Amino acid sequence: MFFCLVFGVDKFKRKSSGHVWTCPNCSAKDVYLVKNNDCFTFCFVPIIPCGGTKQYYECFTCGRVNVYQPQY
Ligand SMILES: [Zn+2]
Repeated sequence: MFFCLVFGVDKFKRKSSGHVWTCPNCSAKDVYLVKNNDCFTFCFVPIIPCGGTKQYYECFTCGRVNVYQPQY
């Protein structure tokens, strides 16, 4: 028997719009502030945020992740 009702906990990542920084690694102006939540999911849809929010800066060109705000 197949169950499609799946509960789980998943990472839920949001890219904040607004300021864009320059990557210290690849020099691309493609660094965004990313907020990462652990979410309780139902059928792979985030329903309830649980746990703390993690915040970091991610370069979407080279994938470099930095917890500190880049200078530019
Ligand atoms: Zn980069």
